[in-house]
Amino acid sequence: MFPSMLSRSGCLRVTRVLQSYLDGEIDPETSAIVAQHLEECRKCGLEASTYRTIKTAIAQVGDEAASVDRAAVERLRHFADDLADPPTPGRSQA
Ligand SMILES: [Zn+2]
Repeated sequence: MFPSMLSRSGCLRVTRVLQSYLDGEIDPETSAIVAQHLEECRKCGLEASTYRTIKTAIAQVGDEAASVDRAAVERLRHFADDLADPPTPGRSQA
C-alpha cells in the first residue's frame, strides 16, 4: 500500500499496513519488511498474532457468527488506528 513509507521499520508504519499484510494485499517487498519487524518487535508481533486469531476464528465459525466477531475486529481496527495515527492536536502538520 505505502511501500515508500516502509523504508525504515517502525511500529507506526507496520501497524498501518498490518491488516493488509495479513490479508496478503501488500507487495512482497513491503511484506518482507513487515515480517522482519514482527519478529523483532514483541508489541507488533503480539498485535499481528491477535489479528490472525480473530481472522482464523471468523473463518472457522462461518458467516452467521462472523457478524458478531466483526465487532471485535472493528474494535481491534480502532485500536490499531489509534496506534498508527494518534488523535493528537496538530497532527495535520506532520
Ligand atoms: Zn513494532
